[in-house]
Amino acid sequence: MNSPLNKILTEYQKKRDTAFKDYLLRREQVYKKIPRIREIDEEISSIGIEKINEAFRLPEKCDLILDELKKRLESLKKEKYTIMKTHGLPQDYLTVQYECKDCQDTGYVNGTMCHCLKQALIENLYDLSHLRNILQYENFENFDLSLYSDLPFGDYPKSPRKNMENIYLDCIRFVNNFSNVKESLFFYGNSGLGKTFLSHCIAKDLIERGYTVIYQTVPNLVEMLRKAAFGEASEEAELINGCDLLIMDDLGTEPATAYSEQVIFNIINSRLLSEKKMLISTNFNLEEVVNTYPERICSRIFGNFRLYAFYGEDIRLKKVKVI
Ligand SMILES: [Zn+2]
Repeated sequence: MNSPLNKILTEYQKKRDTAFKDYLLRREQVYKKIPRIREIDEEISSIGIEKINEAFRLPEKCDLILDELKKRLESLKKEKYTIMKTHGLPQDYLTVQYECKDCQDTGYVNGTMCHCLKQALIENLYDLSHLRNILQYENFENFDLSLYSDLPFGDYPKSPRKNMENIYLDCIRFVNNFSNVKESLFFYGNSGLGKTFLSHCIAKDLIERGYTVIYQTVPNLVEMLRKAAFGEASEEAELINGCDLLIMDDLGTEPATAYSEQVIFNIINSRLLSEKKMLISTNFNLEEVVNTYPERICSRIFGNFRLYAFYGEDIRLKKVKVI
């Protein structure tokens, strides 16, 4: 009963109750100030029944009576709106004001989830990972290439700075061409090199462009889907499979069980089959990925993701020195 969906739907019920109370209050104030509006409303609500009874009594005059009813209703509404206008009230002032006009704050339209409810569920997922706050500060404009060394590093052909510049530009290309891009992204390398930062930048940018993005650590995703398998949180499972970009952070930190492995395979495989993109990041190097995950997972990653190696010195230490 305490699933995120239930909590949100309880909030929706409260919103509807408040909207209805506000409407009654507005109506009462208007009735007090303009008694003619009350008379009109009362006539509107009683005239229908009167006329329909009349039509039953005189079936031969049914069309005429209904026509009269229609005309009378139109003239009453016209009078009401004219009076309201002269008092400076908008036409919808005496209706219930819902936050979402599409579903009238019920969360559903013809039995399917309304866009506002989907967004509320996604925001609920964000709150769990505290992404909302982070997104305020981390974005492409704040990315600082000068934190990366421009000296050669190990056996790598490019300096860490040059390498990061390429990754950064590819990330920008990825968001700019998001609808057309086919490949998913795979960030690997030691922590403290900007993988999470760039993932946040991508998430923020795509959300601002109106895409649905879910950002979760792999352990959280495994846990959510475990709950979904037992009948709880099935809406989250639907969002995980259906969002435009799924960001799976920290691959390799989930419990090393056959169940986790199955869940990770299912997510990757079903999203690839429905041509939906992912961004996976891991602190593993490629050898560790191959040694940890079975061939069916590795082959999907190596065959469908663009791989980006993050290397160099931990930039978080440099940031501390600068401060
Ligand atoms: Zn809605």
